[in-house]
Amino acid sequence: MTASPGIVIAGGGMAAGNAAAGLREGGYDGPLTILGAEPDVPFGRPPLSKGYLRGEEDLSGWLVRPAGWYADNRVALRTDAAVASVDPDARALRTRAGERIAYDRLLIATGGRNRALAVPGRDLDGVLQLRTRADCERIRALARPGERVVVAGMGFIGCEVAASLTQLGVEVTAVFPGPAPLVRVLGPEVGAVLGRLHREKGVELIAGEGLAAVEGAGRVEAVRTTSGRRIECSAAILAAGIQPNVEFLAGSGIALDNGVLVDELCRTSAPGVFACGDVANMAHPLFGRVRVEHYNNAEKHGRAAARSLLGRGEPYDYTFSFWSDQYEHSLEYVGFAERWDELVVRGSLEDARFLAFSLREGRLRAVAGLNRGGDPELEADSELAACAALIASGGRVRAELLADEGTDLRQLAPPRPL
Ligand SMILES: Cc1cc2nc3c(=O)[nH]c(=O)nc-3n(C[C@H](O)[C@H](O)[C@H](O)COP(=O)(O)OP(=O)(O)OC[C@H]3O[C@@H](n4cnc5c(N)ncnc54)[C@H](O)[C@@H]3O)c2cc1C
Repeated sequence: MTASPGIVIAGGGMAAGNAAAGLREGGYDGPLTILGAEPDVPFGRPPLSKGYLRGEEDLSGWLVRPAGWYADNRVALRTDAAVASVDPDARALRTRAGERIAYDRLLIATGGRNRALAVPGRDLDGVLQLRTRADCERIRALARPGERVVVAGMGFIGCEVAASLTQLGVEVTAVFPGPAPLVRVLGPEVGAVLGRLHREKGVELIAGEGLAAVEGAGRVEAVRTTSGRRIECSAAILAAGIQPNVEFLAGSGIALDNGVLVDELCRTSAPGVFACGDVANMAHPLFGRVRVEHYNNAEKHGRAAARSLLGRGEPYDYTFSFWSDQYEHSLEYVGFAERWDELVVRGSLEDARFLAFSLREGRLRAVAGLNRGGDPELEADSELAACAALIASGGRVRAELLADEGTDLRQLAPPRPL
């Protein structure tokens, strides 16, 4: 009898590492292989735009499991072993090096990569993006106090890099579409507050503009914006968001649409193939179809995928949460909202200490807490944990109660563990 090839995980990040840990802790004793495309053991990326970028911490506190855990637990962790194609009918895949690997069940956790900006000059030295440890170290090497760096795009990564570089003494100019940073996720009101915080720290904000070109002879000397403005700089960091890593699934028959389509149990359209983390476009019982690009989801979705792989899955109904640190300011967010028809504020935008509630048709969909609300994952009694419970309840809530400091948010919804 041929031995079972066991479970193979494609991808070596946060979701993959947590799935492997979940499988072993869940009692799976069979062969388990992780095929990754980066040299590192699975780790969390948040410090790459924060403490690690600023040289304040190493990555030891961010490993999913210590490096020795994999061998100790008979997990074959193969870094630099990118998967090139998958054949679900044959239950086999091929690596980029041409090796054929069979599987019983496959978990796709290949995450995302930076979206390329199609601008002239983007290949010049000193034009960088941030996703991996190596990217981070390249940026850190160029972060020289007093020199000017342009950050193009002010989503979370752009904002955090702008903050960290400023803290390192670098002069930062940020160029971004829209009226303020993070408007797409947080709306113009909260975006304006964040813009003000960056400006107060000395970041030059050029709103409503894109990058038209990067100029220089061999290495970047300046960028040109879409309105023709020229900004001299010694480096340019392009932060235009990510796209899911799914190209290797072309021709596999696995249904794709803005990532790998999965149901509430992390199952793809192909029998025996599952997906989780940034790459997975999931059917969520509360939010509909969503692809979430955050650390807490990568961890919990990886764990959920492990349970599903073991046949013990339950519908994944995590309310989602994430955080972002910029300077001394801490943003925590629960829920998921790409559109809302009402934004209600409790607290003070002026003092940058508030909760901002996004409502759609009278239902609370998401809450952003800036320097307020606690950590919804770690503090069960916090305002944001109460908000998560309120979002999960799916019920209607009156805007004036949300705005009223006299109303205890914890009274509005039954407590529910995240
Ligand atoms: C700089 C930075 C800071 C961040 N900060 C925060 C934060 O503060 N808070 C927060 O909530 N989130 C943050 N995030 C987002 C968070 O890191 C991601 O949501 C998380 O990394 C997703 O994990 P993942 O395992 O799904 O995907 P990834 O981390 O993308 O990992 C996927 C892995 O699969 C590999 N891979 C790709 N293609 C293949 C292939 N064909 N075969 C094999 N392997 C492949 C990749 O190389 C990668 O190692 C940050 C992200 C970055 C880049």
